[in-house]
Amino acid sequence: MSYRKRNGSDTWHFCRNCTNWPTSGYTERTSKPTSGELCDQCKAKKRNANCR
Ligand SMILES: [Zn+2]
Repeated sequence: MSYRKRNGSDTWHFCRNCTNWPTSGYTERTSKPTSGELCDQCKAKKRNANCR
């Protein structure tokens, strides 16, 4: 699983089907971020087993 954060934002996304999934100007990491926030939409998708 990879995590992406848009540059200048503190919110990490981990679902590629999130409507806010960054496609340019982002930082990516493969381990769980230790700072910043996790996206609420991504968390909801994961809860509903809809995270891709
Ligand atoms: Zn997201």
